[in-house]
Amino acid sequence: MVKQIAERSQSDADGYQRFFEYAKKVFAKGYTELADRPFGRFSDMVAVSPSLIKLRADRSVYKTVAKYVKDDHLRQALSFHSLLVGGNPFQTSSIYTLIHYLEREWGVHFPKGGTHALVRTLVKLFEELGGELRLSTPVKSVELVQDGTSKKHRITDSKDGVEEFDLVVSNADVHHTYKKLYSSSKVAQKRAKKLEKMDWSMSLFVLYFGTDIAYDDVAHHTILFGPRYKGLLDEIFKGKSLPDDFSLYLHVPTVTDKSLAPEGCSAAYVLAPVPHLGRADVDWDEIAEEYGDRIIEALEVEMPDLRNHIVTRRHITPKTFESELAAFKGSAFSVAPKLTQSAYFRPSNEDSGIPGLYLVGAGTHPGAGLPGVLNSAKATVDLILSKYE
Ligand SMILES: Cc1cc2nc3c(=O)[nH]c(=O)nc-3n(C[C@H](O)[C@H](O)[C@H](O)COP(=O)(O)OP(=O)(O)OC[C@H]3O[C@@H](n4cnc5c(N)ncnc54)[C@H](O)[C@@H]3O)c2cc1C
Repeated sequence: MVKQIAERSQSDADGYQRFFEYAKKVFAKGYTELADRPFGRFSDMVAVSPSLIKLRADRSVYKTVAKYVKDDHLRQALSFHSLLVGGNPFQTSSIYTLIHYLEREWGVHFPKGGTHALVRTLVKLFEELGGELRLSTPVKSVELVQDGTSKKHRITDSKDGVEEFDLVVSNADVHHTYKKLYSSSKVAQKRAKKLEKMDWSMSLFVLYFGTDIAYDDVAHHTILFGPRYKGLLDEIFKGKSLPDDFSLYLHVPTVTDKSLAPEGCSAAYVLAPVPHLGRADVDWDEIAEEYGDRIIEALEVEMPDLRNHIVTRRHITPKTFESELAAFKGSAFSVAPKLTQSAYFRPSNEDSGIPGLYLVGAGTHPGAGLPGVLNSAKATVDLILSKYE
């Protein structure tokens, strides 16, 4: 890495090494110490404030990177990471530079068999621990009912089954949990209103495709930056329409794991960050096919003659995030990871006004991405264990 940077600029290679040391310190504080720790009280936030001030967490990721390196492309390459958790590098706290260090420290991993292999393994663990999983039975509503001196959560599912529980840990979108699931709770409606005023992360257009030839000369992960960086991000995060251009993340897992496609073929997905539905009122049903065609054309720099080799394709749009995952505004990463919406300021892992309601997932502390949501589960489990022994 340092050698490659030095080939462009020796002073940036030195700057990169200083940036790396900075990201290492942020990682030690922001990930190792704080990621799996709940921030239920304001005093929790006050306690970490001196460290955050020292690390200049008020600065954006981009501004921090720009302090260390001058080359425009290098600034892009070192600052885009906050997009992986739904944050605009120009607005997201420099704490998210820790992702760069995390990737260097532990590497980038891919589960053989795809992400679903990871899901299957977690399901196995859950069942071994005595958990019971009911698929295709989404929760329709939860009502709080008095049970002696305590409250029970009465759950109605999509098959009209009704059951009462002492505790609920909701992994659904936070806004959906409060607004729709706890629709009869005044406290929940207050929380939903507050969430509606917060900034929500961008959405994604994702195109999954299979080809009848094997693309082996492409990397497992490729980021294709478009001609604009700040201008494009401004339009995605602050604009009111779908930008004409795009930047892409291309994922070709068959480079690493041949089992994911028939012999001699490839499987891949490509995604483009796009504005969420509350920002740009795009008729995705109308434009998705053509938008996908434009992306495929752009991918031909990496995958020659791609348009003639795609044998199957399927897309998901912000509308799919909204309708299938109940994601507010079709946002792909929930509440945006800004400093003013992080830690204590993020929806809490334990609701202080609805006894027995706990939250996990992207909209809670610490935030989106698999490391984030697994840490939110750890923080929540600790809260439950400390209360219920
Ligand atoms: C295309 C794409 C690629 C990504 N790649 C990566 C990556 O490489 N690495 C990484 O770390 N992160 C990645 N992420 C981010 C990561 O997947 C998410 O941040 C993470 O999955 C969020 O977890 P979650 O538990 O909050 O939500 P989800 O994973 O969305 O889980 C919530 C679940 O709740 C269910 N649900 C909703 N409502 C109800 C209801 N009423 N009753 C019952 N169930 C309900 C939903 O069906 C869903 O299964 C990617 C995201 C996308 C979209």
